[in-house]
Amino acid sequence: MVSGLSENFNRLLIALLLNSNVASVIERDVERLVASLEERNPFENRRVLITGGAGFLGSWLCDVLVLLGASLTCLDDLSTGKAEFIQHLIGRKNFSFAQGDVTTYAWDGTRYDFVLHLASRASPEDYFEHPVETLLANSVGTLNMLEIARKSDAVFLFTSSSEVYGNAEVIPTPESYWGKVNPVGPRSCYDEGKRFGEALVKAYANQYGVDARITRIFNTYGPRLREDGSYARVVTRFIAQALRNEPLTVHGDGKQTRSFCYVADTIEAHLLALVKEEVRGQAINIGNPQETTILDLAKLIIKLAGSRSPIVFEKPRPEDPKRRCPDITKARQLLDWEPRTGLEEGLLKTIEWFKVLR
Ligand code: UDP
Repeated sequence: MVSGLSENFNRLLIALLLNSNVASVIERDVERLVASLEERNPFENRRVLITGGAGFLGSWLCDVLVLLGASLTCLDDLSTGKAEFIQHLIGRKNFSFAQGDVTTYAWDGTRYDFVLHLASRASPEDYFEHPVETLLANSVGTLNMLEIARKSDAVFLFTSSSEVYGNAEVIPTPESYWGKVNPVGPRSCYDEGKRFGEALVKAYANQYGVDARITRIFNTYGPRLREDGSYARVVTRFIAQALRNEPLTVHGDGKQTRSFCYVADTIEAHLLALVKEEVRGQAINIGNPQETTILDLAKLIIKLAGSRSPIVFEKPRPEDPKRRCPDITKARQLLDWEPRTGLEEGLLKTIEWFKVLR
């Protein structure tokens, strides 16, 4: 039990912390994640530095780790993350927020038990506009965070991406596939940024013995995934369009595929990746192998949202990967994990969150 709190009090605390009914979908998932780790809680009173902690995945990790009693420092420059995602944690004695850039962050000498490096732009339309910042967050930023981990003797986690595989020719894609990436293409700032980041993490593990772990995250969706402007990802953009009865903007013919994992499943995998000894030195795919076309996704969201939206076809994104689907055999073996949330269920939760929010 976390800090000896009774179950009911813990529930109440979660509700208060998450600070209002707009977060009820998040609340229920966070509560389940906390409960799954409570008995052998490896984070209680451990110092954790998390970069990108005000982002989509980062803020979910902050919610869970704060409730598990970690002493958390959240570093974020708020370039794509949002203060409102962590607002409810400000003032907690085991949470502190530092607004700053991972490429220039000056370490104050605090020794951490875990360093989680998530900070990076992740939306294609956004990184097309900011290729330099994207490369630097994953190269110089990764270097800075690895140095903190090395000097702290911390466990280091680097969130990489399915994009390291580029336009993959092996589907479902296992970790052993080396990738098909254009080093000077429009997506290279992200793909090559993550590939360099992985190589650097591996070098620190080999040369300095840093306990480093790499997750290759496939498309994840859920509450707090941004739907606005160039930050938007397909699931939440479609949901926002459907709820406004506006046209859903399918790029190309919509036959390209993605495999969508619900955020709570992705977060659970990350918590396990941090604590399972077998993951040391490994890169692991995290995703849901249920593959769907973007056109089918659009139709499903219209149906589930009860929307009158039409579908319109727009020009495809440059060098858009044709298919994406993870082979999660390694995650099943090393983490004893697999996603529990089907696409319809996860979309319904995300739609519910959007409805309450608006
Ligand atoms: N997409 C789309 N309409 C949109 C946004 C995205 O058809 O309004 C497509 C996009 O071209 C890609 C897929 O949906 O084929 C997934 O895009 P997303 O930005 O979510 O992430 P990606 O998987 O490309 O990194």
